Amino acid sequence: MERKTAWEIYNEEQLAELEKLNQEYRYFLDHGKTERECIDTIVNTISAEGYQELESLVESGARLQKGDKVYSVWMNKSIAMFQIGEKPITEGFNILGAHIDSPRIDVKQNPLYEDGGMAYFDTHYYGGVKKYQWAAIPLALHGVVVKKDQTVVEINIGENEDDPVFFISDLLIHLAGEQMKKVASKVIEGEDLDLIIGSKPLHINKEEKDKETDPDKKEVKDAVKAGVLDILKKAYDIEEEDFISAELEIVPAGNAREAGFDRSMILGYGQDDRVCAFTSMRAMLDMGVTERTLCCILVDKEEVGSIGATGMKSRFFENAVAELLNLNGEYSELNLRRCLAHSCMLSSDVSAGFDPSYASCFEKKNAAFMGKGMVFNKFTGSGGKSGSNDANAEYVAHLRKIMDDKGIVWQTAELGKVDVGGGGTIAYILAEYGMNVIDSGVPVLNMHAPWEATSKADVYETYRGYKVFAEGAAM
Ligand code: MN
Ligand code: MN
Repeated sequence: MERKTAWEIYNEEQLAELEKLNQEYRYFLDHGKTERECIDTIVNTISAEGYQELESLVESGARLQKGDKVYSVWMNKSIAMFQIGEKPITEGFNILGAHIDSPRIDVKQNPLYEDGGMAYFDTHYYGGVKKYQWAAIPLALHGVVVKKDQTVVEINIGENEDDPVFFISDLLIHLAGEQMKKVASKVIEGEDLDLIIGSKPLHINKEEKDKETDPDKKEVKDAVKAGVLDILKKAYDIEEEDFISAELEIVPAGNAREAGFDRSMILGYGQDDRVCAFTSMRAMLDMGVTERTLCCILVDKEEVGSIGATGMKSRFFENAVAELLNLNGEYSELNLRRCLAHSCMLSSDVSAGFDPSYASCFEKKNAAFMGKGMVFNKFTGSGGKSGSNDANAEYVAHLRKIMDDKGIVWQTAELGKVDVGGGGTIAYILAEYGMNVIDSGVPVLNMHAPWEATSKADVYETYRGYKVFAEGAAM
């Protein structure tokens, strides 16, 4: 059972559409390097296409018509979008779901210190990372600092050509004899992932210094750190204490790039899982009125277990559905349960693309290949399918049928060889409502590395597949 490469089937028109979609995708990556930035980009995009905020409709008590487009954002980090279909909501949604958080390095709440004439941010990494990959590369700082009066200061430094960048140091090879003998997980340890943010002492006018009689003021303690604080005060009006209520994310600096002589791939940060988030959103926006109501959920905290108020385990999605039913005068606990139980979902996340350099970690018949289209994972999990959502065979058969009827190029895969490792997604959480859920998505090389790679053809086929699902799924 060999599958063909998507590139082989395209005509000129499709190739042009593929390039246009991928250009838009790169824009999405470049403007969404944090959950909050993703939400801003998504809300800007969907508002321009007629989406209205659910909360404002609830306030005005508006009634929903077929074709109406609604969205609900939770804490600026998760979003649920709905497009009302022809059939009653209680007959279920077709749901496209993905996550918009990505592995990175977070700044600690008391982060600033000086050592060896340099100022640092102390950090705590987020999600599964190979720590050594994050040293000695240009890094950018994104996020918010919320002051006591609720003023939100947005930070975004390191993306423009003339912005400064930051970096984590690594030991020179000349002195690395002992380091090079360590196991990879210990080469650079968590507490050593500290960000270098400055090296110039606070400048004090010489005349003022000479006049100063207080010895404490004559010699500023930790002058480099003081210099950084001085810059932060002037540029953002923030103080050291304000870091306590900040969410600052350290991410690779720079825009996503085309890769290969043939420009067939995208190399960029955060493609897990923004590639599925973008294609899910785009597919939903490109659908006319469908029979079943469409839904797209893009959530936070998947990389750390889907916990918290903005993770998939939060009830914010269920609450939004309850509000939607209520607007239609149809809310009851039973109707809510019927709606969710009768829904179909593509829980989309990236798949491990087959990597010939590490072939021994894959089982080739059941691996996802770059360029061979949208991936379906009947199950995920690890060590004997533990922790997986295992999609029902009837549902898989239904998806095979609707995808094949529309000529979508797709493949099936498991995450690596049996017992080599594994991973989970948000699929099992939605499956708890009793709905049909399957894992699907896009193959990625270097998953969770600062720069991840995808094939433009897979991005395009996944987008096409999502549209077929939106229109045709019904179980
Ligand atoms: Mn993921
Ligand atoms: Mn991941």
